[in-house]
Amino acid sequence: EDGAPQDDCLFCKIVAGKVPATVVRETETTVAFRDINPQAPTHVLVIPKAHYRDAASLAAADPAVLADVVREAGEVAADEKLDSYRIVFNTGSGAGQTVWHVHGHVLGGRGMQWPPG
Ligand code: 5GP
Ligand code: ZN
Repeated sequence: EDGAPQDDCLFCKIVAGKVPATVVRETETTVAFRDINPQAPTHVLVIPKAHYRDAASLAAADPAVLADVVREAGEVAADEKLDSYRIVFNTGSGAGQTVWHVHGHVLGGRGMQWPPG
């Protein structure tokens, strides 16, 4: 993977502005926007602008950008005044991944269960 935009990728379309999203933060390398089907009072997705399929692939190709994604997740949590939150990278269909452009879910504002189920 080289990070090039994919024509059939929903999140590449959000990066390009071809699909609307409620963007809450943006940097040179990342975009953060509200999940369309929120699972918590705060549910924001943080993505790299470059297309990689999952967090490990991004870490291998461009670790600084994975760090940007995680740092932005923390900034979202701070913006939302969350002192506790979860960052989730569902990886693989069996774990619930449905969009094949890496995204960190930032979830907070309610109690969380462990193990997550
Ligand atoms: P996954 O299941 O791959 O971990 O997460 C994909 C997430 O993308 C889901 O939580 C889903 O609600 C969200 N999602 C799917 N389509 C859209 C969309 O068009 N806009 C936004 N903002 N979120 C979306
Ligand atoms: Zn993509």
